[in-house]
Amino acid sequence: MHRQTTRLLVAVAHGDDETLGAGGTLAMLADEGVVIKLAVLTSDDGSRCPTGVGVTDRTSSIEKAAKILGIEEVTVHNFGDNRLDTVPQLEINRVFEREVREFRPDMVFTTSMSDLNHDHQLVSRAARIASRPGRSSVREIRCFEVRSATDCGEASGLPSFRPNCWQPLAERHLEAKLEALRAYGSEVESWPNSRSERGVRALAEYRGSQVATEFAEAFELVRLVL
Ligand SMILES: [Zn+2]
Repeated sequence: MHRQTTRLLVAVAHGDDETLGAGGTLAMLADEGVVIKLAVLTSDDGSRCPTGVGVTDRTSSIEKAAKILGIEEVTVHNFGDNRLDTVPQLEINRVFEREVREFRPDMVFTTSMSDLNHDHQLVSRAARIASRPGRSSVREIRCFEVRSATDCGEASGLPSFRPNCWQPLAERHLEAKLEALRAYGSEVESWPNSRSERGVRALAEYRGSQVATEFAEAFELVRLVL
C-alpha cells in the first residue's frame, strides 16, 4: 500500500460493484485508518424491472454494506440503473469532478473498461477524467473486476481484464466482503453463479494463488504517482 494514501474515493455505477470488486481491500484499508467515500450513480434496480413495477431502492442495502466494510461516507445519486447511456458523458463527468473536488481523495477505485456493462464503462471513464493530473489530488487509480460484468466482457470480445496489482487479504477481510455482499440480498446468486458467495470466495482463492497467498483481490493499476 502506498504510504501516503489517506483518502480513497470508490466510484461505481451500482451498489454491490464496490463489494464484489474490492470489498476485502476496502475492509482492510478502513482497518488501517484510510478514510473511504463511496459514490454510487444509481439507486435502483430498474433494469431488472423494465415496466418500472417492483423497482427496489437499493440505498439502504448500499449503506448497510458500506457500514460492514468500514466506509465512512456514502453518496447515492439518482441516475437510473442501465439507463446511464441516456445521460451525456459530460454530466457523469461533472458528478465525479465534484466528488473529487469536495472529498479530495489521493486514491480512486473504479470499474474496468473491460466490463460488458455499459454503466461500468461510463463510470470508469468519468472517474479517470475527474482524477486527471493537475486537476486533482489523486495519485493512484485502480480498476477492479466485478464478477459477471468483467467475465462477460471478456466473453464478448472486449479487451480482457489484465490485473497487474494484487492485494493479499486476511480471512477476516474476505469474511467482511461476504457479509457486505449478503446486505444486498437478492443480488447474491446461488452457486455455480459467479456472483454467489462460493463464486466470490473461489475468485479470491484464485487471485491469491496467482501470488502465492491464501486470498487476494486483483486490480488494474491505471496510474501511480510516487
Ligand atoms: Zn454494476
